[in-house]
Amino acid sequence: MIPFSYSRASTLSDANLQLSAKIASSSFEKGEDKVQAEVQPIAGGTNLADLMKLNVMQPHELVDINQLRLQPDIKAVSSNEENLVLSAFATMSEIANNEIILRDYPMIAQSLQLAASQQIRNMATIGGNILQRTRCAYFRDISFSQCNKRSPGSGCAAITGDSRALAILGTSQDCIATHPGDFSQSMAALEATVTISGKNAKRTIPFSALHKMPGSSPNIETILQPDELIVSLNIPAKPWARRSIYLKIRDRASYAFALTSAAVALDISEGTIKNARIALGGVGTVPWRSIDAEQALKNKVPNDQNFKIAAEAAFKSAKTTEKNAFKLELGKQTLIRALTQVAAMEI
Ligand SMILES: Cc1cc2nc3c(=O)[nH]c(=O)nc-3n(C[C@H](O)[C@H](O)[C@H](O)COP(=O)(O)OP(=O)(O)OC[C@H]3O[C@@H](n4cnc5c(N)ncnc54)[C@H](O)[C@@H]3O)c2cc1C
Ligand code: SF4
Repeated sequence: MIPFSYSRASTLSDANLQLSAKIASSSFEKGEDKVQAEVQPIAGGTNLADLMKLNVMQPHELVDINQLRLQPDIKAVSSNEENLVLSAFATMSEIANNEIILRDYPMIAQSLQLAASQQIRNMATIGGNILQRTRCAYFRDISFSQCNKRSPGSGCAAITGDSRALAILGTSQDCIATHPGDFSQSMAALEATVTISGKNAKRTIPFSALHKMPGSSPNIETILQPDELIVSLNIPAKPWARRSIYLKIRDRASYAFALTSAAVALDISEGTIKNARIALGGVGTVPWRSIDAEQALKNKVPNDQNFKIAAEAAFKSAKTTEKNAFKLELGKQTLIRALTQVAAMEI
């Protein structure tokens, strides 16, 4: 790990000011991604500190944003008839254990409860969770020279190497790394928006616009500017939110990332699916909302045959390698099982 300096921000505007002042005096060049910036905000540190120890990320300055959640005007969860608002500075545990989330948004609670370990969830924030970086083994080990995400233009060792855990949707010839998070899938499915704060202004964008697919520049992962902070996630209160689940399939029953997962919400009335919301985890380079699967279910009866049609639609653009080809069938079966379970829910 290289030496770095550390400061603590006490308010949101203090954090934005510190970040922008430090970035202005760093050698960061415009056009580079936030993740390459020499100045990084640090929340729980469970991903960033890990990558610093591995020398994958080498920021010179850290701005600690953990005090922000203690500000009296920042609530972990607030809700009204139209919206649920989650503070990005809240811990995964705070959100997972909140009674409104447990009752009205089971998918969100489950996507957090099934992630990492209790200790990590107590430390890690949801803002950090959606920005965590891939677990691709070649990315995390600097002794491998080929990794376009870590070292642009160097090639991709995973495509011909060990790609078992990697993506089959949204891949490119330059990177097939999976977005590793669980919670992001619930944000994608529930059509969240993200409020972002910079030095001079706030902006709100659809969650689906936050992450960038790898294309020819896998080193650029989000649309965030380096001095910007994610402040909140805003989820519209919709009729499908209560009938929702997050199903995660992994190598072991706890403390493992998803091989495949499905975040599924259905609005069923009079025996018909009025609307479906679906996102898939473990298979996409970014949180993967499947509008094709949603459309395949609209105004259909919730039954096995229609669930199979939706699963085929969800994976029709999949591209597999020899090592991760199993994810195609596993992903479809995960979605079918999630749809079956959510259709049977009593609400
Ligand atoms: C052993 C292990 C197992 C895990 N298993 C899972 C799992 O199964 N599922 C899962 O989803 N996750 C899993 N994780 C990942 C874990 O959930 C993340 O590390 C954690 O959520 C990151 O949150 P953090 O607050 O610690 O982020 P940090 O490490 O502090 O930050 C991560 C990144 O986000 C940036 N950042 C943080 N907050 C903000 C903000 N508000 N605005 C802008 N930028 C910000 C930081 O600059 C940094 O680049 C696991 C982690 C470990 C170590
Ligand atoms: S899949 Fe992406 S992160 Fe993994 S080695 Fe290839 S370029 Fe690097």
